Amino acid sequence: MSEEKEPQKKEPEEKAVIEASEMDPHFKYEIQKIPGAEKIMLCFQCGTCTADCPVARFSDSYRPRKLMRMTQLGLKNRVLSSDVIWLCAACFTCVDHCPQDVEIAAIIRALRNLAVEEGFIPVVYKELASSVLKTGYAYKIPELRHRKREEERLPPLPKANLESITKISDVTGFSKLFEEKKKEA
Ligand code: SF4
Ligand code: SF4
Repeated sequence: MSEEKEPQKKEPEEKAVIEASEMDPHFKYEIQKIPGAEKIMLCFQCGTCTADCPVARFSDSYRPRKLMRMTQLGLKNRVLSSDVIWLCAACFTCVDHCPQDVEIAAIIRALRNLAVEEGFIPVVYKELASSVLKTGYAYKIPELRHRKREEERLPPLPKANLESITKISDVTGFSKLFEEKKKEA
């Protein structure tokens, strides 16, 4: 008897056609004001960053050259809502190799910061942040792990200083990001 295969879910495809209404002419200036991102307009699309990027080697969608172009064109919403900006490993290979001295990693960091301000926070980071705020740890340590430590006569894990975490996240505005209802990237 032949088993019917479930149809595979396809990744949502990026719209190929760019509408003029999508382009925000101020976006590049907004980016240029951010320390490290000043040279965005010097990118002449040679593609060296993508060719040398270790993440691009293993991803069909992550292309730093493309992100630079989209930013230059002012495709603000597409860039900030895109999951791929979160894939950069900040290894700086692209920065070392760019013939125009564009600080690609700093620009991607700036894009991420703006994405968070706009509410585009990937679910996985929201969960990590919520766990840090509640427990002081990036993820819940399973009870089994605590028991295993006892069995192995290891000291208990240090207790997080939640008071300090709360203070720091309040002062920096970090906790506020998660209080409001935000969009998810
Ligand atoms: S290496 Fe530099 S100039 Fe070439 S595409 Fe990348 S950012 Fe642009
Ligand atoms: S810093 Fe980011 S974009 Fe640049 S090479 Fe490393 S992973 Fe790729």
